[in-house]
Amino acid sequence: MLPIPQASDSQRDRQVALPPASRFPLTMYLSLARKYRPRTFSDVAVQTHVSNTLRGAIARGRVAHGYLLCGPRGVGKTTLARVLAMALNCENRTPEGEPCGQCASCTRIWGGSASLDVIEIDAASNRGVDDARELRERAMYAPSGDERYKVYIVDEAHMLTREAWNALLKILEEPPPRVVFVFATTEPQKITQTAAPVMSRLQRFDFKRIGTADVRSRLATVLAAEHIEAEPDALMLLARAADGSMRDALSLADQSLSLGDGTLTAQRVRDALGLVPEDEVLAVLDLVAERRAADVFPAVARLADAGADLGLFLGAFGEALRAALAISLGGDGGDLSEALREGLTARASRFTPGDLVRMLTTLMDLEPKFRRSGQQQILLETLLVRFALLDRTVAIEDLLREMGPGGPSGGDGTPAPRPPAGPRSAPLGDAPPPRDGGGSTAPAAADTRRSAAPEPDPRPASVLADAPAPSAPRPRISVAGLTAHWDDIVSRLRAEGRMALAGAVEHAKPVSVSTAGDITLELESTGELFHQPLTTNASEVLSVIGALLSGATHLTVRLADRAADDSPPSRRFTEEGVRRDRLSMLRKKDATLDAAVDALDLELME
Ligand SMILES: [Zn+2]
Repeated sequence: MLPIPQASDSQRDRQVALPPASRFPLTMYLSLARKYRPRTFSDVAVQTHVSNTLRGAIARGRVAHGYLLCGPRGVGKTTLARVLAMALNCENRTPEGEPCGQCASCTRIWGGSASLDVIEIDAASNRGVDDARELRERAMYAPSGDERYKVYIVDEAHMLTREAWNALLKILEEPPPRVVFVFATTEPQKITQTAAPVMSRLQRFDFKRIGTADVRSRLATVLAAEHIEAEPDALMLLARAADGSMRDALSLADQSLSLGDGTLTAQRVRDALGLVPEDEVLAVLDLVAERRAADVFPAVARLADAGADLGLFLGAFGEALRAALAISLGGDGGDLSEALREGLTARASRFTPGDLVRMLTTLMDLEPKFRRSGQQQILLETLLVRFALLDRTVAIEDLLREMGPGGPSGGDGTPAPRPPAGPRSAPLGDAPPPRDGGGSTAPAAADTRRSAAPEPDPRPASVLADAPAPSAPRPRISVAGLTAHWDDIVSRLRAEGRMALAGAVEHAKPVSVSTAGDITLELESTGELFHQPLTTNASEVLSVIGALLSGATHLTVRLADRAADDSPPSRRFTEEGVRRDRLSMLRKKDATLDAAVDALDLELME
C-alpha cells in the first residue's frame, strides 16, 4: 500500500514499496527481525526449494565452492547464507545437515559478530579490484581449524566491477580447500552482463518473492510467540506494506508495536506506517464516481493538511482501483482489509472495467513523474479532476471508431471531445455524408467581422475537407472563433495520437479567414519546420476544425516574416489570442504546469 521508490530493486518497480529505511527508528532491544531470524534450514520460510538442496549438499558432503543466491530483497538470501555457514561449521550438526543453532560457533555466526571463518562483505561499498585482490589473498589462508570452513558472503554482488569479478574468477577456478563463496544479489542479470564466465562456476538459486499470505502467517506466528494479540486487518496491512519482504514485515511490526501497548490494531498500524485511512480512499473514489470535480480540491487539501504523504495516497488509490478492477471482473480483489473489500464491492457497479483500466493506466503513467515532482498536490488534483471528468461513454465510441475500417481520423475525423472542453456540441460519431464543402457556397454573414481583409480567392474545392454534417449547429468559422478553439484543436489532435501534427498546430496562429472559408495560418519565422507537416496534413487539421466550426474549406500556411507584406497592416490581437499567448507563456515559464497540462491533457481555463 505504500509507494516509495527502491531504485536498486527491480522487483519494486511496481508502485508498491516501503518507507525508506531511514524512517525506521533505531531500536535498543532485539528487533523481531533479528530475534526470529532462522537458525536452521527448516526455519527458513517459503524458500524450501533452496534450503532443502543446501541441507542435502551438506549432509552428503557435496558443498560447492560458489553459490549465487538471487531474489528480491528481504526474502532470506543472507539469512540462508548464514545458515549454510553455520551448518558447515557446527559442532553438533545433525546427520540431515542441520546446524544446531546453539553451539558457540552457530551463535557467533547467527549473530553476525566477527568470526574468523565467516566474512560478510557488502559489495556496494567494496566493489573495486583492490578489494577483490585482498579477498583473494585472504582466501588463501586456511580456515582457523581443521574441520572448519571459511565462508565469504558477498551481498549486493551485482555491484562488483568486472575487474573484481576477474580476480574472483581466478579463485573460483582453483578454489582453496574449505572455502565457500556465497554471492547474494537482487539483480543477477547484471552479473550475467559483467561476469558471464563466473556464472558458470556458481550454483545458482532463485528465491521466491514471499506472498502476502506467507508473510501474514509468519507475522501471526511471531506475534503469538511474543504473546501479542493482533487484529487480522493489522496483520494484513503489515503484510501488504512489507511487499514480499519478511524482514520488512517484522521491522514494520516493530515500528507499530513501539507506538502503543495492548492489542495491535489496524489503526495503530496505519498511524505507525503513515498509511492513508481507507475511508479517505473510498471517499475520493466516490467523488470520482459522482463526477464532483470541484470537490477534488478540498479533498486533496484535507489530505495535505492532515500531513498525509500524497505519494502514499496515490499508491493507496492505485491499489484500490486495482482491487476494484479485480472485483468488477468477478475476482475477490486479493489481499484487502475486510472494510476495504466491502467498500469496493459496494461500489463495484459505479465503474466499468474499462473505466478502471483507463484510470489505472493514467495513474501509472503519472507515477514516475509524480515521485520526482515538487508539485505533488497540483499533480494529484489535476489527476483526480481528470478522473472525475472522464467521459466514459465517449471513450467507447472513440474505441469503436479506432477499430472501424477507416481507422483513426480516416472517417469523419471527429475526435472525442475532451472532457474539460466544456459544453460544446460536437457531432458525435454520426458519420457525415460527403458534402460539397459545407459553407463554401454559403456566404458568411456576420462572422467576418474580425477577419482580415477578405481575400476573394475561392480556391478550387480539391483540398476540401470532408466537413462534417452540419447536423449540430456549429458557429461559422472566424478568426476569433478559431483562436478561441485553438488549444482545443491541439488537444483533439493529441487525443488522436497525432502528436507531431498537434505540436505544429500549436505553433501556428490563425490570422485570417476568407469569406470562402480559406483559413490562413501563420508560423513564427522560427517555426519553419512546422510548415511542411501542416501543409501535408491540411485536410486532417481542417476536419478537426470542422468538428467545431463550420465553413472551413482550405488551409494556407505562411511564415511570419516572409508574408510580412501580405499581412494585415496591424495584426489584431483578439482577447482570446492574448489569453492564449499568456497561457503559452505561463506554460513555458512554469515547467511543472507545462508537464501537468501535457500529462493530463487538460485545457486550462482562465
Ligand atoms: Zn551449532
